[in-house]
Amino acid sequence: MATLCSGCSNTYFDTIQVYLRDDAAATKFLKLHGVLPNDVQCPNCKLPCTYRASKHSWYCGRWKKIAKTKRSKQCPYTRSDYKGTFLEGTHLKPSQVISFVNHWLHKQWNHHTVIKILNFAPTTSVDWRSFCAEVTERWLENQEPIGGEGIEVEIDETLFIKRGRFTKQLWVFGGIERLTKKCFLVPLLNKDRSARTLVPIIKKFIKPGSVVYSDSWRAYKQLCDQGYSHFVINHKDHFVDPNNPKVHTQNIERLWLDLKQWSKRPGIRQKFYKQYLARYIFLHTYEEEKVLHHFFVEAARVYPPSGVPATSSTSSPEQSTSSTQASTSSA
Ligand SMILES: [Zn+2]
Ligand SMILES: [Zn+2]
Repeated sequence: MATLCSGCSNTYFDTIQVYLRDDAAATKFLKLHGVLPNDVQCPNCKLPCTYRASKHSWYCGRWKKIAKTKRSKQCPYTRSDYKGTFLEGTHLKPSQVISFVNHWLHKQWNHHTVIKILNFAPTTSVDWRSFCAEVTERWLENQEPIGGEGIEVEIDETLFIKRGRFTKQLWVFGGIERLTKKCFLVPLLNKDRSARTLVPIIKKFIKPGSVVYSDSWRAYKQLCDQGYSHFVINHKDHFVDPNNPKVHTQNIERLWLDLKQWSKRPGIRQKFYKQYLARYIFLHTYEEEKVLHHFFVEAARVYPPSGVPATSSTSSPEQSTSSTQASTSSA
């Protein structure tokens, strides 16, 4: 088994320079991150296949004696390097895929730039945008809990309003660690902000023993009974408690501001909000030079070349997916 990359740094411009035209380098990068297979076994001979770089394929080609005729026959097994992977079914070259993802992960994402610079057909760009969104959405469904014994966490809910001919609204609940800025965000697709919805989300995403700061929304009343230290700032009176300057929710408010800047951009339809949130949180979670690495690690997890998703340390993606959906969907 080949050793996979444990963490590399690439700026937006590094990536353009190295991978824009160089398919050998791009293929190597994808294999190093487990997106494309590093070895393939022939299902007939149960022995390793040979890689043909020029054709992006694997073949067996072993000579086998056929007992009846005493003649030899070559094993015909061959398989595309892309089969079952993030690149399955595409006619794009590895260099184009990396360049597209690099651009998609960049804050100044622009559909027209991609079509022009990367020479993509408009429909291909639309398709690849949703393939990329699928990866970050799956990542979002596997968000790790934050907080822990004595760790300070701020929580809040906010309403996104998109005005237009039909005004659209989306409630989002989230939490952020004060020190590390690690966060989680959950769209409340059923618009329910009651304790019945929020408390299970809090218990799922905030470890017990955390010190939780929130506003005085009534759904948070019972947090003390759930194993958290809970402090409340009443925003009707103050933004920071005059008696205890630690009691505020300014980190999460800043996160909302930042998030709303992004959501003001035109063309974001409500059905894409979750995709949009997922991409945003993904970019917010990792340092800029690390996003490409983490994206492809996740792409390899979601579309494993072996066809079997790697077991994560906590639970299988399917399990986490269904539990997230149970707590957030049912609109
Ligand atoms: Zn890497
Ligand atoms: Zn074979």
